Amino acid sequence: MIEVMRLGHRGERDKRISTHVALTSRALGASNIIFTSGDKHVHGSVDRITESWGGDFQFKVADSWKSYVKEFKKNNGVVAHLTMYGENINEIMPEIIGRVYPTEGTESNKCENQKEEPKNLLVIIGAEKVPREAYELADYNVSVGNQPHSEVAAIAIFLDRLTMGKNLYSEYEDATIRVIPCKNGKNVIMSDLEGECDDFDKECSEDN
Ligand code: SAM
Repeated sequence: MIEVMRLGHRGERDKRISTHVALTSRALGASNIIFTSGDKHVHGSVDRITESWGGDFQFKVADSWKSYVKEFKKNNGVVAHLTMYGENINEIMPEIIGRVYPTEGTESNKCENQKEEPKNLLVIIGAEKVPREAYELADYNVSVGNQPHSEVAAIAIFLDRLTMGKNLYSEYEDATIRVIPCKNGKNVIMSDLEGECDDFDKECSEDN
C-alpha cells in the first residue's frame, strides 16, 4: 500500500495545489493522502472524484505527523521524502523498488528472500519549509532532479517511476464514469443510474 503525506498544507493558500497533489496521488496508485490538519475543500474534492471514478482513496488527518511516521516505520513501512536536496531519483529508485517490492527488483537489487511481501510505502511531500526531522526520519530523501519545481510534478514522477507506468491503466469496478482512450474526440462511458441496464451505457462525443 502506498500512502502520501502532505506536510505543511497552508489552508486557503494551498487548497488548489493540495487538491492536485491528492488527485495525482490517487490517479497514480496511492491508497490515501494524509494531511496534518483538516481541509473541507480538499476532502470534498477527493470524495467527489472517488465517488464518480471509483476506488477507495481516502483523505485522512494525522494529529501528529511525527508519531504517524514513527509508527509507520515501526510497522516495517518504508518512508521516502521528496525534496530537491535528496538523492537523484534516477540513481535511488532501483533500490527503493527493490526494498518495497522485493520480488520485482532488478537482478542486482533483488532481496534474497523471494517470498517476501511488498512493504507499505509512505511518501512525504512538502508545502512550506519541511522540518529537519522529516529528512532524518525518512529512509530515503529523493530528488526529482535538483531544481525546484512542484509537489504535483514530484509526486507524479516518483509514483510513475515506482510503479513503472502500471497505474496509468487503473480502472475501478465501482466507477460510474470511465474514459475509453481514443485517437480523436472523447469516449466516455457513464453507468446507468436509472438501473435500466446492468452494464455501462456508452456516450460518445466528438467535441474536443
Ligand atoms: N523550498 C521548499 C523546501 O524547502 O522544500 C520547496 C517547496 S516546494 C514548492 C514543495 C514540495 O515540492 C517540496 O517540499 C518537495 O516535496 C516537492 N519538490 C519540489 N521540487 C522538487 C524536486 N526537485 N525534487 C523532489 N521534490 C520536489
